Amino acid sequence: MDSRVVLRSERVVISDGIRPATVHIKEGRIERVGGPDEIPPESSLIDCGSSVVMPGVVDTHVHVNEPGRTEWEGFETATAAAAAGGVTTLVDMPLNSIPATTTREALRAKRAAAEGKCAVDVRLWGGVVPGNAAELSGLLEDGVLGFKCFLVPSGVDEFQHAGEADLREAMPVLARHGSVLLVHAELPGPIAAAARVWDGAGPEGLREYGRYLSSRPDAAEVAAVELMIRLCRETGCRVHIVHVASAEVLPLLRAAWEEGLPVTAETCPHYLTFAEEEIPDGGVAFKCAPPIRSRENRERLWEALRDGVIDLVASDHSPCPPEMKKAESGSFRDAWGGIASLQVSLPAVWTGARERGFTVADVAEWMCAAPARLAGLGGEKGAIAPGYDADLVVWDPEASFEMDPIRLRHRHKITPYAGRTLYGVVRRTLVGGEDVFG
Ligand SMILES: [Zn+2]
Repeated sequence: MDSRVVLRSERVVISDGIRPATVHIKEGRIERVGGPDEIPPESSLIDCGSSVVMPGVVDTHVHVNEPGRTEWEGFETATAAAAAGGVTTLVDMPLNSIPATTTREALRAKRAAAEGKCAVDVRLWGGVVPGNAAELSGLLEDGVLGFKCFLVPSGVDEFQHAGEADLREAMPVLARHGSVLLVHAELPGPIAAAARVWDGAGPEGLREYGRYLSSRPDAAEVAAVELMIRLCRETGCRVHIVHVASAEVLPLLRAAWEEGLPVTAETCPHYLTFAEEEIPDGGVAFKCAPPIRSRENRERLWEALRDGVIDLVASDHSPCPPEMKKAESGSFRDAWGGIASLQVSLPAVWTGARERGFTVADVAEWMCAAPARLAGLGGEKGAIAPGYDADLVVWDPEASFEMDPIRLRHRHKITPYAGRTLYGVVRRTLVGGEDVFG
């Protein structure tokens, strides 16, 4: 029996553009890309018509939370949601699982927990926390793709945030290995100074989005990015700023780029979609950290994607049980900060992108190729080219749907996208040439 599968479409996203083509798959990999009529007689044809065939989305910022907080999400539900959303590789963050992935032993525990439960390709980031510098080389040897750290309290006790002294221990180790440090870039100082906005806030005051926003000021992001650029320069360690929310950091990122420093950055679908002006008081589904800022700020983030100052988009899928979202009180002070959007990130980003004149090829760069490079998977994921994994999403950019939370395969169905019309319907998702959705 021949194992060759051929996908044909009028719109295949290849590195040099979008054109009619066939994608020939053998043993889980892309064997070659041919003309639209090159269909070997013994192959089985999947005719995708005019649907776009794109590399599967590589989401480098996902909190699966298993083991230890599987009631928040879990590998089965997260990867089912990923498959439905056209995400073929997700890279799991070292928190909020218990144990956090900060030791070799914890890494083994996470691998064991994931075993046999994953519908898509799952890779792992390790964590840099105070006191674990001696673990970092071993974690790399055992296969983590790089490391994440926090500069402010992370929200969970078992993942402590790093100070400059901790970073000065860890970053030279990562630099020696050519590894990368992903940074939650907010510094505690400006946040502590702003905390008094909650003083005397009654139940109504706790529901005010504006108050939450001023409790996480732009200054916290700016100071953190300044620190990380300085440490990058001094240690030679690659730095990636996760979830850029404040456009105030963009000039710093641009200067670092012009200086030739190995600093990259991402933003998230929610910072590109929503704006402060549209968030209702008590709308805790919108709470994340750093917070969603103004409309004008949002447009500057889009411009940064256009200029390449922001390299990529990742979901920061960060779910929690419904009771932790405090929907009843609507208290922004007390709600969990995190938005679960693994399944909707492609349509959410595309919806905003098409309105602003971007193309499917732009989205493929931000959500497939660039994240694959960040994770060191640039030679196997994120492109439709010979030798690459046959991880593909077949989708219709012109089709739209109304976001009904019931369709989410996430463990919990809370989403700020509820009721929104989104463009981009995923028809079929393949991982290693095998159907995982559609
Ligand atoms: Zn995160």
